[in-house]
Amino acid sequence: MYPELDQENSDDTEYVGVMWTNYYLCVCGEEWQDTHSCCCNDHCPVCNKEIEPYISDDGSLTTRKIDKAYQIASGSNSSANT
Ligand SMILES: [Zn+2]
Repeated sequence: MYPELDQENSDDTEYVGVMWTNYYLCVCGEEWQDTHSCCCNDHCPVCNKEIEPYISDDGSLTTRKIDKAYQIASGSNSSANT
């Protein structure tokens, strides 16, 4: 017996064409950014390590917010020093 799954295919996600600016910081110190249609990992151009973006900007983030994320990612946040 097959339950009739009324699977509506009304899930047509509209592609709104948002481009994300992903900011990467590698453990080797290399930093770069890339623009994608999603938040995805990238490979370090120097050591080829797969890196997750420490922040992704869909255009709504302020420079200050990105800056703060960078500080956290780079470990220059000296508040956690116990
Ligand atoms: Zn690297």
